[in-house]
Amino acid sequence: FTPPPPTTPPCWRAFCSISIGHFCSMLGDGETTLKVLHSERLQAHSKMYAKYFPGRPMVMNLLRSLNSWLQNQTADHISYEAFKERVDNTAQVPDAALPEGVRWVGCQGSQPHFRRYPCGVWTLFHVLTVQANNTGGSDPQEVLKSMRNYVHNFFGCRYCAEHFENMVKEGMEGVTTLPYAVLWLWSRHNQVNNRIAGALSEDPLFPKIQWPSPETCPSCHTVTHNGEHGWNYEQVLPFLGSYFSSSRILPDYLE
Ligand code: FAD
Repeated sequence: FTPPPPTTPPCWRAFCSISIGHFCSMLGDGETTLKVLHSERLQAHSKMYAKYFPGRPMVMNLLRSLNSWLQNQTADHISYEAFKERVDNTAQVPDAALPEGVRWVGCQGSQPHFRRYPCGVWTLFHVLTVQANNTGGSDPQEVLKSMRNYVHNFFGCRYCAEHFENMVKEGMEGVTTLPYAVLWLWSRHNQVNNRIAGALSEDPLFPKIQWPSPETCPSCHTVTHNGEHGWNYEQVLPFLGSYFSSSRILPDYLE
């Protein structure tokens, strides 16, 4: 196993913003504005975050506090106003905070319209599948279901959401172990990379490749007996575990 080279983007500072963005998206804005939120789904998302999100202590305090409140809600739906008020109030508690503003680091593009939010969404869910695997989560599909719900209901790019939903329908049911969940998301992400390589949305400085490249992880690649390219899954899994490990997040990253 070859660890990622030190030149790999150092951290995903935007995680906290993305995580909160996930909740804020549920609060709704623009076209996705919702007056009520489905309690059970919100509870599932929130529980998953409280367990696996590798945030800074202040952010985790906020997520855990929100989670306790949500788990105590007994009605089928929670009003947008009630949830928003709770988020705002929790963010004012001294030891719990929302990050201020959004500053992209690992997902910074060469121009403002490249990378950023969708890159953050992928990165976040890769980290969460890895965290679930490392901490021995009980449901192998827990993180994937949360991603599915989020993308289906809130991801702004609707055709992306449709494609993702199709991939989910084609194979997520077969995910029966936590390591498989990590690999499933990786391989689906590569399917998307393959489909959109060369599209206008591609940042020329970050071309869509079948990831990780042989330079980033030589041992992840192999040649089949037909002489074709193949993946060495036994190496890909530890590579993903290391690349998306919480220990690689630099919470105090300064430019
Ligand atoms: P991203 O593809 O966003 O990847 C982020 C980072 O993850 C990369 O920099 C790399 O470090 C790492 N990475 C790359 N591949 C993998 C992998 N296979 N496994 C693990 N890590 C990896 N855009 C479209 O134009 N059409 C679509 O249909 C579409 N569908 C999408 C569906 C979903 C669910 C999401 C979240 C996004 C979708 N997008 C789609 C956006 C697109 O996939 C990219 O997120 C966006 O173009 C930004 O690309 P990026 O270069 O930042 O890298």
